[in-house]
Amino acid sequence: MAERHLDHPGDWHWFKGYGPADVLGPCPHASCPHNAQSVIAHGPTLDRYELVTCDVDDGCAGTCRAWTDGGMATTTPWLHAAASRAVLPAAPEEDTRRP
Ligand SMILES: [Zn+2]
Ligand SMILES: [Zn+2]
Repeated sequence: MAERHLDHPGDWHWFKGYGPADVLGPCPHASCPHNAQSVIAHGPTLDRYELVTCDVDDGCAGTCRAWTDGGMATTTPWLHAAASRAVLPAAPEEDTRRP
């Protein structure tokens, strides 16, 4: 096993345009292979090293997030995150309803 190096030890680093999102629950896309991932943050430990979104168009489509060990291996379950303007195209109209 190769040694892995933490770029941000003890730190939390969001990539530009991304930030925290509310968790709606477990990933509801049971058939999604989660094989198209974008890194959106660096975490402080090797278990939570890269926060990724799943960008499979007919699966999670950018709505689910998980931590990985810096490779493709996830170390946490995939969670469905609340829609964020940072990861979705601009909404056609403002939705001001609150849950
Ligand atoms: Zn997925
Ligand atoms: Zn999903």
